[in-house]
Amino acid sequence: MNPVLSRPRGTLSLPASVNMHRIVWSYAATVGVYHLLALAALLPWLFSRTGVVLAVLGVYLFGGLGINLAFHRLLTHRGFGCPKWLEYGFVVLGVCCMQDTPARWVAVHRRHHEHSDRQEDPHSPLVNFLWGHLAWMLVENRDLIRLGIYERYAKDILRDPFYRRLERTLLYPAIILGSWAVYFGGGLAASLAMGGTPAEAVRFGASLLVWGVFVRTVIVWHITWSVNSLAHLWGYQSYETGEGSRNNWLVAVLTSGEGWHNNHHAQPRAARHGHAAWEIDLIFAVVWGLEAIGLAWNVVRPDTRLVAGRMRRG
Ligand SMILES: [Zn+2]
Ligand SMILES: [Zn+2]
Repeated sequence: MNPVLSRPRGTLSLPASVNMHRIVWSYAATVGVYHLLALAALLPWLFSRTGVVLAVLGVYLFGGLGINLAFHRLLTHRGFGCPKWLEYGFVVLGVCCMQDTPARWVAVHRRHHEHSDRQEDPHSPLVNFLWGHLAWMLVENRDLIRLGIYERYAKDILRDPFYRRLERTLLYPAIILGSWAVYFGGGLAASLAMGGTPAEAVRFGASLLVWGVFVRTVIVWHITWSVNSLAHLWGYQSYETGEGSRNNWLVAVLTSGEGWHNNHHAQPRAARHGHAAWEIDLIFAVVWGLEAIGLAWNVVRPDTRLVAGRMRRG
């Protein structure tokens, strides 16, 4: 009997390095303000069908390619290689998701894999659901102080000058503010070009900003966070991985394939997370397509012997 899998939910202690009395205000304020701005989308004045379409497409473009493909499968696990211009392009999409810099994201996630569902795991939902979903980010955890985890988990990332610039200069906020300007300015210009009044143009630009950026960012946050929370609590386990990771079809649909999380923990480097025919993995389909046209190489595929021997639990 595996001691982690048999652990009842709610019995895992917080990491010893967490100080619940110290709020990380930069994260807490960002999460709070973005949720409020996303709620502004409910105002009829800010509604537009174009904005809703951009929000939905943006979930796949920024969340799927930026976070799932680039931050996770490419940078964290080195599941494939691609040209630097393409890597940076995908990473810029990930930066627009406001999930901190690539080095920080990679370091925290590598620590999660090293200590999954044990006390040192930065965000195990076996503490409680809310902790694993988002509360872990909002309070101080000394183990996650940047320089400490960078030294241990992200040296390879920080050898790249582009990723160092994202840490040390204003490039990171500049990319985010630039994406706001593209949405607002694009809406403004499109409306004026179609004969709209200045007031109509401002309204349309604001609509695209709120739906295309704030609503989309909040949706992508909860989708990413659901991999940490839902996919470590509910679903089936195909591999005995020694922690609580699950294959969760709902998370898999929302994340275009990241919800096959027990498969992923069993073979973290594999660029393909769906191991069975029915485990649809659109992110891997993109990697496969890039490989077919020569834009991806050294694609790490699941070990077929392990896949053949996987437990059939559901
Ligand atoms: Zn996990
Ligand atoms: Zn991973």
